[in-house]
Amino acid sequence: DTVSVTPTEILTKLKRDCATPLPLLQQVANAMSADMRAGLGPGPGPGPGLPMIPTYVDNLPTGNEKGLFYALDLGGTNFRVLRVQLGGKDERVIATEFDQVSIPQHLMFGASEELFDFIASGLAKFASNEDGRFHVSPGRKREIGFTFSFPVKQTSIDSGILVKWTKGFAVSGTVGRDVVACLNEAMERQGLDMRVSALVNDAVGTLAGAEYWDNDVMVAVILGTGTNACYVEQMSAIPKLTEHVSSSGKMIISTEWGAFSNGLPLTEFDREMDAASINPGEQIFEKTIAGMYLGEIVRRVLIKMAEEDALFGKSVPPNLSTPFILGTPVICAMQQDYSGDLHRVGSLLYDKAGVESKLSERKTVLEVCDTIVKRGGSLAGAGIVGILQKMEEDSKGVILGRRSVVAIDGGLYENYPQYRAYLLDSVKELLGTEKSNDVVIEHTKDGSGIGAALLAASNSIYN
Ligand code: ADP
Repeated sequence: DTVSVTPTEILTKLKRDCATPLPLLQQVANAMSADMRAGLGPGPGPGPGLPMIPTYVDNLPTGNEKGLFYALDLGGTNFRVLRVQLGGKDERVIATEFDQVSIPQHLMFGASEELFDFIASGLAKFASNEDGRFHVSPGRKREIGFTFSFPVKQTSIDSGILVKWTKGFAVSGTVGRDVVACLNEAMERQGLDMRVSALVNDAVGTLAGAEYWDNDVMVAVILGTGTNACYVEQMSAIPKLTEHVSSSGKMIISTEWGAFSNGLPLTEFDREMDAASINPGEQIFEKTIAGMYLGEIVRRVLIKMAEEDALFGKSVPPNLSTPFILGTPVICAMQQDYSGDLHRVGSLLYDKAGVESKLSERKTVLEVCDTIVKRGGSLAGAGIVGILQKMEEDSKGVILGRRSVVAIDGGLYENYPQYRAYLLDSVKELLGTEKSNDVVIEHTKDGSGIGAALLAASNSIYN
């Protein structure tokens, strides 16, 4: 191994700008706590701090839930349906079954009724073939937990007004309407006698699903294409929610932490990517830590290195100028190349961006990937510690000093080992060895579907 990397000025500066030493991570965690607290403050409408959306989920699954429940998940280019037969404390989950339907492109740009009719007909088809393992109690409607991962303004557990479509959806006629009513009307048109008993987002579904198996789960984090986190808050610490009565004295709050931006170590590449995005100035934390963006930041660094330092020879590889041509799964695959000549890095660069590279150049590329991924994972860890700190401040000793579980789901956390390791390191470094022994970070997979069905059960109209 004789080829060394020339530490170009761009790489040196990048590493300096992206550095996440402990004091910086501490500041980020503190700012996250402060912005959470500010977002819970009194008064209607958007105030300072994070959105901190009350979810009206104030009864978490206990394990006693019984009966047949459905879940419907709409959050991307697929919708998923699931049914589960719950058997209470002893039998738990007796049977589950699920199906996935991809949403035709034209429905993402069509009229609201068309989209909801399509979903309701998929649900009707699924509901029509229940086998003998599933049975609804006589005289009861089938109840659904609806996971809807777009910004909604909720005023109860079973209603929510769509604020805006995101993630490529541009359906007309839904914004400003109650999405549960939209679905109910479509189900009626299908002659489908079901009712939505809980409306949640994927983070809330994940928290409920994980809590069902482990009562110490306090926080859920989604790290996929985008990111969000939610946690269990004391009603007394939610000044902006005065009129709601919660029998448990608690409610899940969706932090919408993707909107956080305080004190983040940002670079010129982040600023340029933000300026070129569909939502400039928004979701800065998300743009620094989530899967949609990590590869794109790397691409922007490589372009500059190609232009100014002739990283890939005299001319800039033309394909490298295409935004989002390097996805996060690609930089992840490159980072799993432990061969001496980095041939996998070379072939990925060539296949994905038409880039021919020498060994020294491949090493530089890997250093760029590592720098961006280290920053992302470390900051995500600092965000998690910020949430734990906020909870600890309001409930002395209830969070730290006993076992607390953070459930994480999402393709980024699941598939990117380096990202996961940086996140875990950051949490450990921030909490210190003793406290971090009490905090369990758990990977949960696809818990949000079951979680939504469980919330339909715990919020059943028949309870
Ligand atoms: P969602 O789009 O609902 O967030 P997922 O939780 O499955 O869905 O996350 C998908 C995201 O996870 C992708 O956009 C990508 O950023 C990231 N991802 C998927 N596979 C990999 C991988 N092999 N390596 C790194 N990141 C990945």
